[in-house]
Amino acid sequence: MTLTRRQILSTLGIGGLALATARTSGAAWPGSLEQAGAPGGPFSLAPLPYPFAALEPHIDAQTMQIHHDRHHQAYVTNLNTAVANAGAAGKMPLDEMLKNLSQVPESVRTAVRNNGGGHWNHMQFWTLMAPNAGGPPTGAVADAITSTFGSFDKFKEMFAAAAMGRFGSGWAWLSDDNGTLVIHSTANQDTPSMENKRGIFGLDVWEHAYYLKYQNRRADYVTAFWNVINWAEVNKRLKA
Ligand code: MN
Repeated sequence: MTLTRRQILSTLGIGGLALATARTSGAAWPGSLEQAGAPGGPFSLAPLPYPFAALEPHIDAQTMQIHHDRHHQAYVTNLNTAVANAGAAGKMPLDEMLKNLSQVPESVRTAVRNNGGGHWNHMQFWTLMAPNAGGPPTGAVADAITSTFGSFDKFKEMFAAAAMGRFGSGWAWLSDDNGTLVIHSTANQDTPSMENKRGIFGLDVWEHAYYLKYQNRRADYVTAFWNVINWAEVNKRLKA
């Protein structure tokens, strides 16, 4: 096994320093809206529920840090700016806002759709992965997958097809469609709720989610996801 430069730095105990340096020098990264006087609420970014490196080797620490601290933060910052200009609709709970985009003023509707969707999608994504997780499904979701899709292998095949078939950026989902489990995908940061479905879990297939480690190999990233999926959390969401 060859070590990447980051793994070597990490082994030497200077990975954090290298990342901190990269962060300072990456001043042009999106997120500079924070300096443009954007409001600090009502939405905020929760810390990742595990260390950035916790999903290694399946998802690398640098990807997790940039994805959470920069990309997700940018959605939150931009969402706060958008809802500040959305009148009464901007006071709805996020779920409601996303289901009722037609009530959001047209001037900020696309911003709410993209950034509100981005915030919702990423919140579920972080909790749906965990260290020392993955493997075959457990509990109620295991039975639901077998009865709906035939087997976990068949399910993975269909989920991968949805993830690979999403052209450009988006998400692959297992959702509850009016009492039936379905596999589907959404474009950009659209949520299942925008299609009147309830998302049970979604995999981010934007290039920012995998490009540093997997480059163009989205299929390998989709396969790796099954090593980090948190079935306990999936079961909670299935029941909810
Ligand atoms: Mn993402």
